Amino acid sequence: MQITQHAQILSCNHNNEGRNELRLSIGLLSGCTYSPEKDTNRAIVIAVSSRAIFDLEEEHRLFLEKGTEEFENHQRANENEPLKEGTAFNFIKAAQMVNEKLLEKNPQEKLLFDVILVSNNSPQSGSRIINSAKHYGLDITRFCFVNEEDSTKYLNSNNVKLFLSADKTDVCNALKRGIPAAMVFKQEVLAPSDQLRVVFDGDAVLFSDETERIFREKGLSEAVNYEKLQESVPIGEGPLKEFAMLLGELRKKFSLDNSPLCIYLMTSRSNRDMSARAIRTLRVWGLEVDEAFFLDGAPKGPILSQIQPHIFFDDGMHHIWGAQGVGTPAALVPSSC
Ligand SMILES: [Mg+2]
Repeated sequence: MQITQHAQILSCNHNNEGRNELRLSIGLLSGCTYSPEKDTNRAIVIAVSSRAIFDLEEEHRLFLEKGTEEFENHQRANENEPLKEGTAFNFIKAAQMVNEKLLEKNPQEKLLFDVILVSNNSPQSGSRIINSAKHYGLDITRFCFVNEEDSTKYLNSNNVKLFLSADKTDVCNALKRGIPAAMVFKQEVLAPSDQLRVVFDGDAVLFSDETERIFREKGLSEAVNYEKLQESVPIGEGPLKEFAMLLGELRKKFSLDNSPLCIYLMTSRSNRDMSARAIRTLRVWGLEVDEAFFLDGAPKGPILSQIQPHIFFDDGMHHIWGAQGVGTPAALVPSSC
């Protein structure tokens, strides 16, 4: 359904302690596709921080160097000046495009992306963020301005399935709450493909880090032996498995060709020794990926530059840097918090 002008006050779920209530939660939609049928229990809820979706690095520096008051004055004075696009911007925009395709196929579709913007800004200075979302036509259903040391405490009650933030502490707190989460950095982003393309690393991202730990502690041959012994046992679940499964469910709604959504596995596992267990695990889970790359430790950047994904999840900083070097939006799933 196309709604050209729509504004609403929505509430993020709060806990019962008054002092912990969100200070303000506003949903504001204008000129974008919106499904009034969006079912928050079925939706794939993505919470994105303001610094992940917009480029707020200069403003963040002002906050760190000059303090809250100067920062808020600056934001209020520039509230009609749209913020530049941040690292996660294209990913969120592409998720919106997939929603449109899903609703074209089935106007009653319930499995849709639902985006929440979470910010540590005060509601007073947050108007620039809302205006920026409106400027770009972003279908963000809830804005949460949270004056809390740990803003992730509301994510579970909002049924969040992916949290993207520029703050490592917030990402770690979300992971500790069992919420798939990753950290984005300010980086150059090259224009991605028309399809929404999501690339997952294997170990410690989609899969558990059981084999990686053996590799680190005892070396490659022990890790390979372990894989052979465990051949028939699926690999444990990693921090982003639940989100990947939901993407997989959504992917099945489209045909093999011309899907607006594609899922990739890109792992350092070698094709010869360790790929079989990974493939078997995906089969047991029922997760169908469009393409899988077993790189045996080779750099991921060159292939990412061909795929042009909207987001690439990995737990290794060297792979994150490799992705950033080719303009791929990269998101770190911290292996230690
Ligand atoms: Mg890994």
